[in-house]
Amino acid sequence: MPELPEVQTLVDDLKAWNAIGQTIENVEVRWPSILADTTPDRFCRLLRAKVIRDIRRRGKYIVWDMAKDCHLVVHLRMSGRFFFAGPAERHGRHVHVLFELGDGRWLAYHDTRKFGRFCLVSDPGRILGRLGPEPLDKRLTAGRWAKMLAKRRRRIKPLLLDQTFIAGLGNIYADEALWEAFVHPLTPACNLTRQEATRLLRAVRKVLRQGIRNRGTSLGRGLNNFASLQRQAGGNASCLKVYRRAGRPCPRCGALIRRLVVAQRSTHVCPECQQESGPSSKC
Ligand SMILES: [Zn+2]
Repeated sequence: MPELPEVQTLVDDLKAWNAIGQTIENVEVRWPSILADTTPDRFCRLLRAKVIRDIRRRGKYIVWDMAKDCHLVVHLRMSGRFFFAGPAERHGRHVHVLFELGDGRWLAYHDTRKFGRFCLVSDPGRILGRLGPEPLDKRLTAGRWAKMLAKRRRRIKPLLLDQTFIAGLGNIYADEALWEAFVHPLTPACNLTRQEATRLLRAVRKVLRQGIRNRGTSLGRGLNNFASLQRQAGGNASCLKVYRRAGRPCPRCGALIRRLVVAQRSTHVCPECQQESGPSSKC
């Protein structure tokens, strides 16, 4: 599933390939269920002739700002991706939405599993307002982060995945960050010391920045996996230390990485580097 670095890669690509400033000449919706709260007719009517003023990321959402009261908020969910489609590709089996741009290009939304969602809203705050802070935002200081953790008894792994607590992390980068910070995924958040909390914030930032630098993580090359706008796999998979590496040695200490299930999600830990602490002491 695309997480912050993958979504950022797509947003950066859309900007680099001059999607901003384009007029949407036409829209075709082939799979109406992709639209969260409107009909294909209304969706096409409201977007036609609009200029894409900005494209940005918030959490795992891509936001297209068209006008003060017209914003397209896209969530790629499991397997959504965008690319510029040639004439033959426009009719591809997994192409569900097509945007014809003013310069003649066709931007295709491709989604093998069809879980992605497009919301056309007058106020993006309706969706984005529920999200927690951006992990790379400097306003998220170590002090504020420590206070956020101290208030929560929930175990740290599911808390990191909770988009209303912090936006943009998914299973891959949460596991990598916890390993990087020597924190066991079952630790109650309020049990982390100030030092551990700071280390975790640094680790979250380190793994996300690395993911962005490597243009995302693609776990395979099939159509379900992340690919950039140019349809290239991300380069971050070879940098993963624990995610999907169960049974292989921890790159830090050599102990064999284990797979656990935490809140119904596969979780990967080093049993030596990430020791489970005793019963909750601080909270
Ligand atoms: Zn280790």
